[in-house]
Amino acid sequence: MLQHDVLIVGSGLAGMRAALEVSQDPGIDVAILTKVHPLRSHSGAAQGGIAASLGNSSDDDSWELHMYDTVKGGDFLVDQNAAEILGREAPENIFELEHMGCAFSRMDDGRIAQRRFGGHTAPRAVYAADRTGHALLTVLFEQLLKRGVKVYSEWYALDLVIRDNTCQGLVAYDILSGGIEAIQAKAVMFATGGYGRTFRITTNAFASTGDGVVMAYRAGIPLQDMEFVQFHPTGLQGSGILLSEAARGEGAHLVNAQGKRFMEDYAPGRMELAPRDIVARAEQSEIDAGRGVTEKGDSVFMDLRPIGEQRIRYALPSVMHLARDFVGLDPIQDPIPIQPTAHYSMGGIPCDVDGQVRLKDQDDAPITGFYAAGECSCVSVHGANRLGTNSLLEAVVFGRRTGRAIRDQVRDLAPTSISEGEMQPAVAEVDRFIRGDGSESVGAIRADLRDVMMDKCGVFREAGQLQECLSDVKDLQARFAKSRIDDRGTIFNTDLLDAIELGHMLEFSEVITVGAINRTESRGGHARRDYPTRDDEQWFKHTLAYRDDDGPRLTYSAVNMAPRHREAYPPEERKY
Ligand SMILES: Cc1cc2nc3c(=O)[nH]c(=O)nc-3n(C[C@H](O)[C@H](O)[C@H](O)COP(=O)(O)OP(=O)(O)OC[C@H]3O[C@@H](n4cnc5c(N)ncnc54)[C@H](O)[C@@H]3O)c2cc1C
Repeated sequence: MLQHDVLIVGSGLAGMRAALEVSQDPGIDVAILTKVHPLRSHSGAAQGGIAASLGNSSDDDSWELHMYDTVKGGDFLVDQNAAEILGREAPENIFELEHMGCAFSRMDDGRIAQRRFGGHTAPRAVYAADRTGHALLTVLFEQLLKRGVKVYSEWYALDLVIRDNTCQGLVAYDILSGGIEAIQAKAVMFATGGYGRTFRITTNAFASTGDGVVMAYRAGIPLQDMEFVQFHPTGLQGSGILLSEAARGEGAHLVNAQGKRFMEDYAPGRMELAPRDIVARAEQSEIDAGRGVTEKGDSVFMDLRPIGEQRIRYALPSVMHLARDFVGLDPIQDPIPIQPTAHYSMGGIPCDVDGQVRLKDQDDAPITGFYAAGECSCVSVHGANRLGTNSLLEAVVFGRRTGRAIRDQVRDLAPTSISEGEMQPAVAEVDRFIRGDGSESVGAIRADLRDVMMDKCGVFREAGQLQECLSDVKDLQARFAKSRIDDRGTIFNTDLLDAIELGHMLEFSEVITVGAINRTESRGGHARRDYPTRDDEQWFKHTLAYRDDDGPRLTYSAVNMAPRHREAYPPEERKY
């Protein structure tokens, strides 16, 4: 049996940042396990930037203003103790990354450049052209190599073992050989990323299938605020591939079929730089009203020409290349058709500001030895809607804090064990596909699921459609129980992993839908046509979904209104 003091699942920004922190103590044996090569983690695809109130491009920025923007951007569902930490600790984290070697873009006087992003009052996005995630990820990976941290690359976590509220380790699958192994660890941290792949149109990598959240859910931990999914306003038409918000930060316009900058009608104060939920809804409303562009009418234009050729080439090279390569248009000369695309998962595994996973119900009991950070977690700094550039920041700030907490606590944690019996669910799951003789195709079920979630649980929602969505998801779950895969081999069996991931998507999609049905209000990324306004009296609270035999069981918990260094920002009307 394999064994480490600390096992971190996920080698994106959150996982690597945490590992680096743990490895400061050479006496602790820490390993990372990841289903894709570390540099292929989705963090590397991040384009636009990472937020911090450095104040380099404006005199009046502050962590308080950053915190306020974050709370308001999240439609006040944000836990304010966490948002305070995010704002306060941002600058030191940026300087640290810079000292590790991250080559951020500069102003003429040599200071770190900062640009505008939606919902942020000041220019706050620190960036490396429009390849910020890549720059950060490579620097962190170098640091890990330098420290000799053990990496299980192309290993797949299948199941989390929790006994008596204490994490024992996990069961994993070696993708190269097909072997199933138990890995014992006194501390396990999940940094497994988001779950956007369950929608037809998405910016997310193939790996963003919510594995971590489902493993936690199956182990008896509730999932928090899963109904809040962010749709990004500027995905390339058809594929949903992201064109960074940095384009609008640099001055791009959004235009409908009549040539009008329609944001005038929705957020006249901020125009294209209103928060994403508001811009995505504005776009969808224009499309639904028949003012969409292209033959299908399912998109609007983003026009980069006001930015000018020179600046596009310098600050937005990836946006330029993506548009050329994937729709054959050159943003220097043509407007680009874009549409809302599933982008970010606000919900996830409930944890505190040190990454300790907690049930967050009345007892707020910790799961000893189990931690989470990054997009799979819900600490909750994003509340009902995340602001652009706050997610890379969350991964770094809370990855670092979680690493520190683990480093401080792991010596006091008792040794763990995993029995044969505890390995059985994972072994049986793999066996069912390798030896099973179902008739339903995994690919067909996945395609149907992505259509159902996009069309019935998308930018706008409504009771009838959501009920249909739930019953469709249950039908798909029934079909999945009879599914088969073609490849029965053991070596690099991606068919098998696709099937396991589909099982995860079917499970959390049900949680998203049930949460969305119950929440009879509109808040942030959750917009109900039948309940168009926010209802603080009834719904100023987080959703917690526990797994029961017949589906998710919902309870609710209070929003944290207790920051330590200032008063909380009370809910107010959210206007831009
Ligand atoms: C296209 C795009 C652009 C973005 N741009 C920005 C931006 O400019 N600014 C910003 O703030 N945010 C941005 N975001 C969001 C941000 O990039 C992510 O939220 C953040 O990087 C998530 O980091 P993470 O460490 O939590 O997870 P990820 O980077 O997604 O990494 C997840 C890791 O978990 C591993 N994993 C998952 N499941 C398993 C399993 N079963 N077994 C083993 N390993 C597993 C994967 O291998 C991977 O290493 C963007 C997102 C996208 C999709």
